[in-house]
Parts: sequence; structure tokens; C-alpha cells
Amino acid sequence: MLFRVAEASQLKALFELLAQTNTMLGPVKVADDLGGNPVYSFEEVAEFSRLSLDYTTTRLSAKRFFLPFREDLAVFALQGKDWSKQMDYHMDRPAVLFGLHACDINALNRLDKVLMGSDHPVPYYAAKRKNIFIIGTGCTPRPSCFCRSMGTNTVTHGFDLFVTDIGGGRLFFEIFSSEAYHVIRDLATGEPTPEDHNAYMRVETERNRKITTTVDTTDLTKILDMEFQSPVWKTWGDKCLGCGSCASACPTCYCYGVEETVDPGLREAKKTRTLYSCNIVDFAEVAGGHNFRPERGTRLKYRYYHKHRGFVEAYEESLCVGCGRCGDICLAGITVPEVIASVRGGDPT
Ligand code: SF4
Ligand code: SF4
Repeated sequence: MLFRVAEASQLKALFELLAQTNTMLGPVKVADDLGGNPVYSFEEVAEFSRLSLDYTTTRLSAKRFFLPFREDLAVFALQGKDWSKQMDYHMDRPAVLFGLHACDINALNRLDKVLMGSDHPVPYYAAKRKNIFIIGTGCTPRPSCFCRSMGTNTVTHGFDLFVTDIGGGRLFFEIFSSEAYHVIRDLATGEPTPEDHNAYMRVETERNRKITTTVDTTDLTKILDMEFQSPVWKTWGDKCLGCGSCASACPTCYCYGVEETVDPGLREAKKTRTLYSCNIVDFAEVAGGHNFRPERGTRLKYRYYHKHRGFVEAYEESLCVGCGRCGDICLAGITVPEVIASVRGGDPT
């Protein structure tokens, strides 16, 4: 990793430099919620001034730019007696995601393991991942963030450039990729001094101090094995609405269904992938109508076991990055810290 420092004005210069050849994506304030709090979303932006780089978090994650909610995998057309097949990875132009927080970059690193690191990589995801230049920025923690417990409050790879405001009108650049190195050469930057290093460490210490919600992950995979039959799953399931909003908001949920459709004239067909949630009633229904998880409690339990047990067993880290989005969006008020605490012996609230 290389480090550079620059005046704060260089951030706008960086944006404008990249905007010459890339589609720019970043956090934008799109509304106020009923409590008057700003609601942020990752959107395409043409002007640097539209970015809200001091955003807390976005309601939905940036996952949709890499793994869209719905995507055509292949389109087929009858030509004469033969069917032609066309595949499109849906990347028109290189893009820059400007202002992704550490937890969300860690979420992409988790998705990479499944969607790019397995025996059958997903080319649609890989094409977008390789085509989107990622600029990370330091975050503003919220009460629902528990990234420190998940080890995702900091990130060491999976981005091109990471920018931290170290105060005094100064920026601290962490340069990870050669592309970022070449971009940074066109900006006015300098070598960081020992004072800059100290300022960076002070800012990070202060940020971490503000992340106050915790999840005890000690022996969690073992405890989940022991508590598979625990009544807490039914208690949470009775609260759960089975709406699937948690998976939609989550930066790491990637379960999906594939549908094949044929036009009525039998001349065209397509195969479409749609993201799905394991909390939805028919997620585990199979041909013939049998449903392996008809109860909400078993479906909610499955989601927790995938995140905090199965994925840990396969990849030695959790599929949950502690962003808190699922708890924020849940109309039933179900949060990861409360569910995990109850499995560990606390009372489900
Ligand atoms: S946990 Fe909450 S958001 Fe998720 S399916 Fe249940 S009610 Fe919906
Ligand atoms: S499970 Fe919840 S807290 Fe964990 S990464 Fe997904 S949305 Fe964030």
C-alpha cells in the first residue's frame, strides 16, 4: 500500500478527472424519513457537489451495481431452425463508485469469495467488479453499526483508493491499485509526514470510539450448532413478517432464482436471474409443492446460520459485515445484535 496526502480541494479534482471517462456513482441525499433524518442512496452523479460524502449509510447497499436485483443472463432467438444465444454482462462504460465505506467494501470482498472465487465464477458479477473503480471514504458511525465486532470497520483490500479526511483541510490517500496510482499522479499530492500518520491514527481512533453497538462472536459457530433447536428462533419468527426487506438491503445477501420465459410466438426466450430472500415463504419450496421451511422462524434461522455459521465454516469469516441495514429497514424491529444476544442466552425482546 502506498500513502499520499493532499489538500481537501483535490477531492473535487479527483472526481472531475475520473468523470471524463467514467460513469460516476456515489452517495446522494434523496429524501428525509418520517423522523426528519436524511435518506441516502447510491446514484449516478454528474457533479461533485451532488455527492454527500459525509453520509451515514445508504438505505440499500451498493450491491445493485454488481449484482442487480434482476438481470437477463441470456437471450435466445430462433433463426431458421436454430436458436441463437446472446449473453451480455451489462457494462456499457467503466464506472467509479466514489465514497464507499469500509464495511461495504468488505461486503464486496465477501461476495468476491462466492461469486468469483468458487469453481464456477459468475462472469456477470466479475465483469462489473473489474469494471468499477472503487474509492473508499471514512464513515460516520450510526447507533446500529456493529462493524467493529465483525472486524469490518477497516479494510485493507478490495478497493482502488481510500480517502480519509484527517482534519486541517488535509486528505490521506491509501493507494491500492496501479490504476489508482496512475490517477493520483495527476493530482497535487505529497508524501505523508509523521504528523499526518498521527492525524490519521487519531481520526480512526475517534471513529472507532463512536461504534458502540457490539455483537459477541466468540465461539458463535459452536453456539449456533448447540442452539439449533432453541425456542428463540420461533420467538423471532413470530415477529418476522417474512417480507425479505432485510435481504434486499443487505450488502452480502446473494440468493437468487432463475426463470426462463418464452415469448408467445415461440421465437424468443430469455433466462433471467432475480435476487430472492430466504425469509420469503416459498424460498425453499420445490417442484411438487413441498416446502422445506414453511415457518417464518425456520427461514429466519436459516438466514442467520448462513451468515454466521455456514459461511464462516467455508471462508473463515462471517457473511455479515455489521452494517446494521437489515435492522434499520425491518418493520418488525429485528436486529442482528439482539438476535445473536438472545441465542447466547439473553431474552428475545
Ligand atoms: S427479519 Fe424483518 S425485514 Fe427480514 S423478513 Fe423478517 S420482518 Fe422482513
Ligand atoms: S446481515 Fe444485516 S448487518 Fe449484516 S451485513 Fe447484512 S444487512 Fe448488514
